[in-house]
Amino acid sequence: MQHVENDDKYVGLTVNSGVSQPPVVNPYMAKRRRKPLPSVSEMVDGILKGDVTMLSRAVTLVESLSVEHQALAQEVIEKCLPHSGNSRRIGITGVPGAGKSTSIDVFGLHVLRNGGKLAVLAIDPSSERTKGSILGDKTRMEKLAVHPSAFIRPSPSAGSLGGVARKTRETIVLCEAAGYNNIFVETVGVGQSETAVHSMVDFFLLIQLAGTGDELQGIKRGIMEMADGIVINKADGDNIDRARLAQAQFRSALHLFPPTSSGWMPEVLTYSGYYELGIPEVWDMIDRYFEFVKSNGYFEHKRSQQARYWMYETINDNLRAHFYNNPDVAQMLAAKEARVLSNQQSSFTAAREVLDFYFSKK
Ligand code: GDP
Repeated sequence: MQHVENDDKYVGLTVNSGVSQPPVVNPYMAKRRRKPLPSVSEMVDGILKGDVTMLSRAVTLVESLSVEHQALAQEVIEKCLPHSGNSRRIGITGVPGAGKSTSIDVFGLHVLRNGGKLAVLAIDPSSERTKGSILGDKTRMEKLAVHPSAFIRPSPSAGSLGGVARKTRETIVLCEAAGYNNIFVETVGVGQSETAVHSMVDFFLLIQLAGTGDELQGIKRGIMEMADGIVINKADGDNIDRARLAQAQFRSALHLFPPTSSGWMPEVLTYSGYYELGIPEVWDMIDRYFEFVKSNGYFEHKRSQQARYWMYETINDNLRAHFYNNPDVAQMLAAKEARVLSNQQSSFTAAREVLDFYFSKK
């Protein structure tokens, strides 16, 4: 099984392995020069004016693995930070086939009907493991993809989940500086990525499907605890009764959870993304949430907690990379690993010796 979503329990979406690119046969292709990088101030000015090309180029720098690009990206982010923060950040999760793309398309159009701008970002750890992303592909959101006020960006693919999430967090800053006042961050509800998304959004929406009555067992308690709203999709046709039953089950399950730190009681609604039923109600809930947390101070509190979290995440990421990218450390680790595996040394003394060696080099 190559992808978790090919498991029989996920209906509605299968992912096939990709086809590699044929070699370039056009002899002139190789000679084509890449456009020179704009300067930091050109990028920042462009972003602040809402220039999508400049925004995309800056996001590409954020995602780049090159040290030089990273340094430029950090300068751009630093300059954009004072212009960021003014948006509603909404995380959207659900298992493959739950209807995330269909729903984001209609939710997005609903949000944009009163003006404003929307950026749709994604965190998809599968894109690193399998080299194929199951999220964030523009064609999955047909209407938004051609909407002039929507910016859709697939998941960054390089690095660990933590690294991918940090890049998305930085991209949020750039999008907000470019005037995107609605940010959706999409993720697949099958792994650890929800925690990462939760740490960068104001509202966390869990899309569920009505199943055979045992759906509550299938979802991890942790995800339900993070959700500010649970919405049961595909409440249409013969499925309406089952969706209502699932709604009742989720509601009673939520009562068993401890109260949330925001004081908000998560709501459970049914809707149909495909037939566009119940969409305004979902959005009313989200509006009410924002009113609630803005009036009790939780909105600001959560954002500052998140900023602190990302400071430590960034430090941890960098320390880890600095350690593991050190060639002497890598060599020593390989030797120690062999000794630990063959019981010649305990894991603790091996770890101690590698760390002592690393710190003595400073
Ligand atoms: P994702 O994998 O979570 O992004 O799910 P998709 O948006 O790709 O939807 C998976 C399948 O469910 C597609 O075949 C959709 O047409 C279908 N679907 C999505 N929303 C609805 C809905 O509200 N009602 C029904 N009946 N089908 C839907």
